[in-house]
Parts: sequence; structure tokens; C-alpha cells
Amino acid sequence: MSTPTHFGGQQRQNVDVAIIGGGIVGLFTAFLLARSGRRVALFEQGEIWSEASAVNAGSLGVQNKLNPLVPYTLWSWEIWQKLATEFGIDAAVKRSGGYKIALTDEEAERLGHSAAEQARLGLTVEMLTRKQIEKQAPWLSAEVTAAAYSPDDGSASPTKMGPALAKAALACGVQIFSRTPVFDINPGPRVEINTSEGAYFASQLAITTGAWTQGVGAMLGATLPVELDVNMVTVTEPAAFTIGGLVSHARGILTLKQVANGSCLIGGGWQGVGTLEDRRKDIDHDQLVQNIRLALQVVPGLRRLNALRSWAGYEGVTPDSLPYIGHLGGQENIFVAACARGGFTLGPAMARLLSELISKGRTTLPIDIFDPARFEND
Ligand SMILES: Cc1cc2nc3c(=O)[nH]c(=O)nc-3n(C[C@H](O)[C@H](O)[C@H](O)COP(=O)(O)OP(=O)(O)OC[C@H]3O[C@@H](n4cnc5c(N)ncnc54)[C@H](O)[C@@H]3O)c2cc1C
Repeated sequence: MSTPTHFGGQQRQNVDVAIIGGGIVGLFTAFLLARSGRRVALFEQGEIWSEASAVNAGSLGVQNKLNPLVPYTLWSWEIWQKLATEFGIDAAVKRSGGYKIALTDEEAERLGHSAAEQARLGLTVEMLTRKQIEKQAPWLSAEVTAAAYSPDDGSASPTKMGPALAKAALACGVQIFSRTPVFDINPGPRVEINTSEGAYFASQLAITTGAWTQGVGAMLGATLPVELDVNMVTVTEPAAFTIGGLVSHARGILTLKQVANGSCLIGGGWQGVGTLEDRRKDIDHDQLVQNIRLALQVVPGLRRLNALRSWAGYEGVTPDSLPYIGHLGGQENIFVAACARGGFTLGPAMARLLSELISKGRTTLPIDIFDPARFEND
């Protein structure tokens, strides 16, 4: 529990670690730190688990990550697979395997190169012949000229993960302040965090604010450029056939999977419309049609299904598409972990790295390439 103190007539709270942002990175970090005995307070401007972590497509993709992220993705997968047994968190994690597909000769060549490089980095992945594709994945279209298969692709349920993770965090004593935006931060040995509900003090502060990280970094004078993606996802009615794995595309423009009730989820980073300022997350119908057409081209069986709903959500992207993980603005006690592409897959690894950095000052895997200061002089 936090220690309330009184200052200038106002109640102030002291905690060991304050965390800003209640998505997968913030909540998981809060859980890990509280579990190891830290007093943790988490501030969320809206409801916890209501932004990217809640509305994503649930793909736990290893093949669709940038090469430098492969070791981190594999590590994250290990954590995902232990969630239920080690932490009692049931997120319907499924290691279904996955097919990264190509539709043209050029894409097939690109796929071959990337599969070879990913295998070199430790990923279990093999290129399938056309015959093997027909045998293993007859639901893929004859237009699929090549596919790389990895048994390590899979999925989890964002709708299960959120409540289960929040419950686990609360059970460890994390104080969660929903509808409590942080609007100002004063660094120092005890960081002052000014929120809509008053000021709080913490020995350490973690910023896990996803797409909002540029603005939160600016509160500390840090340069953390973030581009906004407004990703769209579509869900169909349940299918009578089975898609046996996660489907991704050599050019990163499609993700497709079937979830437990038989519905298919279609995504791939096609862009909707909106900004952080106007808070809109609207569907762009031209983009959506292209997304669906591509899905039908790859899995023709989808033609028989009605689309039930499409939605969009914010994803923050850095200029080099690698996340920010590390100390912020030269402050020893302020940290950031945000903006991983495919951050649902990578969330547990990011939280583990961040919690290690906060509690031990070092990390299991190196984080130099994620240095938050790397764009300071651009
Ligand atoms: C539509 C869509 C589909 C996606 N599909 C996939 C997928 O299939 N697989 C995959 O791996 N990844 C996917 N992603 C990406 C993934 O969802 C995100 O990378 C990941 O959830 C980011 O988690 P986060 O905790 O960093 O951010 P978020 O979940 O966005 O959480 C950040 C939180 O910080 C809060 N916050 C911001 N500023 C403040 C402030 N000043 N004070 C208090 N709180 C604040 C926000 O309100 C927000 O709740 C998808 C993203 C989208 C949008």
C-alpha cells in the first residue's frame, strides 16, 4: 500500500514506483514490481486496458517482427506461455503456428531471405514447397506462391488478458488510478507526478504511455518522436472451416487468424483516420476494402462469411520502428518502455526488461538499440 502524507493541506501519496499508462506494458510492469514487494501506483488517463492493448488483433507473431526484435519476441513468447502456470493469468494463449505468405515471385524471394535471416537469429522457420502448402494448409489460396512456416506463431485474447492481468496486479497491491491523467512531472530524487487528482511522489517513475509517449516525454524536455498509426481490424461471423494458424504477409500487410468461437480476425496495419487531439479512430472504407480483398485473395473460404464489425485503434511508432526502452532524459530514476511495433506480442518482454531495469539496474537482454535518447540530435 502507498503511504499517504499531508502537505499544504492536500493529501499526497508516496510510492516506490509510479507508472503512467494502463496498457499491457504498464500493467504487466506494475504486476511484476508489486509481486517483488514494491509499492506501485499506476495512473491511467482513461480506463485501464482501453487503448491499443484492448483493441488489438491478438496476434502473437514471431515471423512478422523486424529482425533486431526476434530475440525479444522469442523471450516474450516464453513469458506468454508461462502466464497461466507461473502467474495464474489465463489469456487463452495458443501456439498455433503460422504461415507468412507471398503472392508474387518478388515477395517469395523476399520471404526466402527473411526466413533464412530469422532462422539464423534463432527462430524455428522453414520454407514450404507448393505441395507442402497444399497438404498442410489447404485453406490457403492457390495464388499463394510461397509460405514460410513457424510453429512459434500464435495468438492470445486481449479481452481475457486485460481483466486477468489487472486482477493479478490488484492482488499484489498495485494501486490503480483510472481516469487520472498525468499532466506534469517534476524530476528529482522523489519524482513529483501531477495528476488530475493531485500530486504524487515516487522514488522511480516508468512511462508506458504507448502512442502518447512523445507528449509525456515532452513534460521532461525529452525528444521522443512518435508517429501515429490508426490500425484497423475486422471480425467475421464464425466460420464452418478451420484456418490452422496465424497468417501473415511477406510485406507485412495482412494478419489473419481464427479465434476460439470460429470467427476470423483480419488486420495488417491498414490505416483508419484520427489523431490523438481529435480522439477519433474512424474506419477508412477504401483502406478497409483493400484489406478485406487481400484477405479473400489469400483465404478464399472467407468469401462465405459476413463481416460483423470493424474498428480502429492508436499505435505509436518510432522513426526506426524499434521501441523506446531505457532511462529517460538523463534521469537515473525515470524510465520509458513504449512504441514496439507488434507491442502486444512484445508486451511481456518489455515489461520484464523495464521491471529489471527499475529493480536491478540491469537487464537480461541488451537494450542499447532501444536507447530513448537516440533521436535527441535529429
Ligand atoms: C488495431 C490494432 C491492432 C493491433 N494488433 C496487434 C496484434 O495483433 N499483435 C501485436 O503484437 N500487436 C498489435 N497491435 C499493437 C499493440 O496493441 C500495441 O503495440 C500494444 O498494445 C501497446 O501497449 P502499450 O501498453 O504500450 O500501450 P497502450 O495499450 O496504448 O497503453 C498506453 C496507455 O497510456 C495511457 N496514457 C497516455 N498518456 C497518459 C497520461 N498523460 N496519463 C495517464 N495515462 C496516459 C493511455 O490512455 C493508454 O491506456 C495492434 C494495435 C492496434 C491499434
